[in-house]
Amino acid sequence: MSKLRAAVAGGLRRSGRRAVSHAGQSRKGASPRGGVPAPAPAPPPAQHLFSDPAEIEALRSKLLTWYDKCRRDLPWRTLAATEPDPDRRAYAVWVSEIMLQQTQVATVIDYYNRWMEKWPTLQALSQASLEEVNELWAGLGYYSRGKRLQEASRKVVSELAGQMPRTAEDLQKLLPGVGRYTAGAIASISYGQATGVVDGNVIRVLCRLRCIGADSSSPAVIDRLWDMANALVDRSRPGDFNQALMELGATVCVPKAPLCGDCPVKQHCRAWHRKLFGKPAPVPDVEDCGLGGCPLCPPAAEPWDSSLGVTNFPRKAAKKQPRAVRTATCVLERRSCHGASEYLIVQRPNTGLLAGLWEFPSLPLAQGLQEEKQREVLADHLQAWMRRPVAAEGLQFIGEVVHIFSHIHQTYVVYSLALDEHVTLDPASSPSRWVTEEEFHASAVSTAMKKVLGAPE
Ligand code: SF4
Repeated sequence: MSKLRAAVAGGLRRSGRRAVSHAGQSRKGASPRGGVPAPAPAPPPAQHLFSDPAEIEALRSKLLTWYDKCRRDLPWRTLAATEPDPDRRAYAVWVSEIMLQQTQVATVIDYYNRWMEKWPTLQALSQASLEEVNELWAGLGYYSRGKRLQEASRKVVSELAGQMPRTAEDLQKLLPGVGRYTAGAIASISYGQATGVVDGNVIRVLCRLRCIGADSSSPAVIDRLWDMANALVDRSRPGDFNQALMELGATVCVPKAPLCGDCPVKQHCRAWHRKLFGKPAPVPDVEDCGLGGCPLCPPAAEPWDSSLGVTNFPRKAAKKQPRAVRTATCVLERRSCHGASEYLIVQRPNTGLLAGLWEFPSLPLAQGLQEEKQREVLADHLQAWMRRPVAAEGLQFIGEVVHIFSHIHQTYVVYSLALDEHVTLDPASSPSRWVTEEEFHASAVSTAMKKVLGAPE
């Protein structure tokens, strides 16, 4: 239990790929009274567009030349380039794209290699159990991604005769969990469809290239960025172009300290030009279209800040604070007949947060509950579950472990209880099992639970 006592608060760092999609309103036939169609929205000012075909050609060429020289060797790129079967190729790209959402490349590589070794085809994945998928996914976070990937593979096998849809439109329409970004990435990389992609890296690069300072998470801006990505994508090498744009965002045009001096497209970058030649910004700034009210310029109240340079772009509305949740969790420990420690874990329901994963017996706590009361409700919970008396004072308080999910600030209040007698669990309760520490780590447990046991992530 010494590891338990050393458990400390911590959080996950994630800065991987963020898929972005906006369905948008139909612009055609919008006729509020069934009569004259509503006028089309005015095009954005030229400052924010790529309207010169020669410039688009030059940008494509420079970006692809740079990508050919500087791209990172990644296992999914190798598979996409060498796999002759289009279904296997699309599957290989699909797995990588799902894993890369919200997760860094360096973390994904090992997971990806193990996944592809275990399930090299859609057919193999479709036969896996959710338990196996969760076990392999454990530690990668956002567990519903693995589950949905497996569900979608079953659909391809059972309803589409094992053949992946061949266009971005069909991929998005037919596969659960495949949004506009993932569909565009699979179709362009696997099939060579000339369709753009917009993820977090692309948003940053495009907003800087065209000085887009309006809220980059707003539907209006996202729609414009999709239009731009579709216009820019290279017609003969769409997959490489999309990967090049994302690679630029991941390695050169990074969020905090972009390497503009090394950037292959700096000559086309309006933020970079403005940084070099800009001047302290009056309001409204003549370089912000000079009109005020431009839907893509920074808001007048937050004009260009010369101390930020190109990192003036992109801008986002303030994030909603994650919801605070407290959960009491108890590490029940016993000695096996060989003298080794064993811990009891229970399985979470198959829907909702951390679906199907295993955890120490846990109980959500009401806000503001005092420590003494927390201990009591946890003891009551364990008592009902184990069908034997559990004294609140027998629970040993270990500490608190904080884990940040995307929308939840989760605090686990950790207790332990050593058992020296046989325990019969209520058969109506969730599935449970005793595991050694080694078995615990090989099980489908979340990173948060590993923190609770005080193990390294
Ligand atoms: Fe990004 Fe700088 Fe290149 Fe512009 S010049 S695209 S800001 S790295």
